[in-house]
Amino acid sequence: MIKSLTLFVRTVRTPNVALVQTRLASQVLPQLSATKYNVKRKEFGSVQADDVNFFKSVLSEEQVLTEESDVLPFNIDWIKNCRGQSKVVLKPKSTKQVSEILAYCNKRQLAVCPQGGNTGLVGGSVPVFDEIVLSLSLMNKIISLDEISGALVCEAGCILETLDNYVKEQNLIMPLDLGAKGSCHIGGNVSTNAGGLRLLRYGNLHGSLMGVEAVKADGTVVDCIRTLKKDNTGYHLKHLFIGSEGTLGIVTKVAVHCPVLPKAVTLGFFGVKDFDSVLKLYKSAKASLGEILSAFEMADNDSISSTVQNLKLPNPIADFPFYVLVETHGSDETHDAEKLSRFLEREMSSGLIIDGTVTSEPAKMQTIWNLRESIAGAGLLDGYVYKYDVSIPAARYYDLVPVLRQRMAGKAVKVYGYGHVGDGNIHINVTVPEYSKEATDMLEPFIFEEVSKLKGSISAEHGVGFRKPHFIHYSKDEGAISLMRELKQLMDPNGILNPYKVLPDP
Ligand SMILES: Cc1cc2nc3c(=O)[nH]c(=O)nc-3n(C[C@H](O)[C@H](O)[C@H](O)COP(=O)(O)OP(=O)(O)OC[C@H]3O[C@@H](n4cnc5c(N)ncnc54)[C@H](O)[C@@H]3O)c2cc1C
Repeated sequence: MIKSLTLFVRTVRTPNVALVQTRLASQVLPQLSATKYNVKRKEFGSVQADDVNFFKSVLSEEQVLTEESDVLPFNIDWIKNCRGQSKVVLKPKSTKQVSEILAYCNKRQLAVCPQGGNTGLVGGSVPVFDEIVLSLSLMNKIISLDEISGALVCEAGCILETLDNYVKEQNLIMPLDLGAKGSCHIGGNVSTNAGGLRLLRYGNLHGSLMGVEAVKADGTVVDCIRTLKKDNTGYHLKHLFIGSEGTLGIVTKVAVHCPVLPKAVTLGFFGVKDFDSVLKLYKSAKASLGEILSAFEMADNDSISSTVQNLKLPNPIADFPFYVLVETHGSDETHDAEKLSRFLEREMSSGLIIDGTVTSEPAKMQTIWNLRESIAGAGLLDGYVYKYDVSIPAARYYDLVPVLRQRMAGKAVKVYGYGHVGDGNIHINVTVPEYSKEATDMLEPFIFEEVSKLKGSISAEHGVGFRKPHFIHYSKDEGAISLMRELKQLMDPNGILNPYKVLPDP
């Protein structure tokens, strides 16, 4: 039975409280990445007192952090898996400062690790050895917003949620939304080609990003900031920086196309009996809801129960093997409600939806979204989480979860799958009491081999980072990898930008 079918116009979503709580709850210092993964330091220079003096001459005193306690948070990643050994964090306030820092580091062969909001899940945002952390957090100015075209121009260090709140005042919406929105930067989103919850409706950043300004390893500023939908003047250079994870340049400014804020938003949260029903429901939602379908997410029982048990979040419906979350973004409340009601009636009588709740009340929608968005962090409280973010063709989307459950029986606390069904992107989490080489070896490369056999991608949206370069060949052939190496050589010949990340050692 559908418990509530109240339809109101949606307002702003409140910050993700569970994300903050989860971070505070897990404060164990991880092992050094270099030791844990047996990595050899490359032949870069080491930061000396003269280097620090130079940085202080370009930046102000407070933009150069060298105290161990100040630097420590920049050395540890969100998931608390990786720990670097950097001694210096630089916080430039302008593109000119980024350019001067890079030109100097390039000459001195000092390695640099760019960092945005540090919410990345593949260890790309933290150093491995003593790379200088270049934090974009003080480059957070909004430069312009064109209400007619929806073009937003801002610096790379703006927080996604701040931007979303800002553009809402002009009846616009950011084209992407993710659980980490309260901390992640737009520059980090671009550098990882972040997907998230609205991709189904608004597409990925290769479509939404109108322009980018970036600084190359030698300090050259590449200004491709344009607010045009169409610009076919030569190579489409902005795409080089989308998803290159800080290995080809530092993103300093972006121009993003913001769609119109939907006047009516509705959220449905349903319980279904098996994964086959999830797929059937997706097919039906696409057909019935058409252009207003903005998100179609699924979570298995263990995903939801881990947020309920570990984070004490309320589940508005009863216990089910699978859950589906359907969001609509439309411009006509009555029209959208009618469409959704028809969809519900049909699928309740067909038996695909067993129980659920539908709402447009902001507070209720927030509760449901919190439940979904907190899955990413809930597993941290089990001890340690192995996170796999893969895309797999729809028909085989959930196949790997039961396979891994069987393989990890007796070793894992939980194995669960959730994700963006509409994008073929499943997040598979394996939680264990603590990190161990034995568990790692049971999971990797097994999972990547299986994904490759299913013709999927070993990274749907989180990227390759530090954790997956040696598995990239499961998704890219040798020709593609060698072209990536050539591009890297061209743009960063000394290899100072985010070393040990993305590209495998030859
Ligand atoms: C709870 C939670 C939910 C998440 N949900 C999603 C999701 O739905 N979809 C998704 O795609 N991701 C998701 N993520 C992963 C993460 O939030 C994204 O990858 C995000 O885009 C990273 O942004 P950031 O600013 O935190 O970047 P960081 O983590 O700081 O950096 C990520 C990478 O980008 C590089 N980088 C950062 N800024 C710059 C810059 N200005 N120039 C050059 N390189 C730079 C870093 O070196 C690093 O390699 C989630 C993470 C969490 C913790």
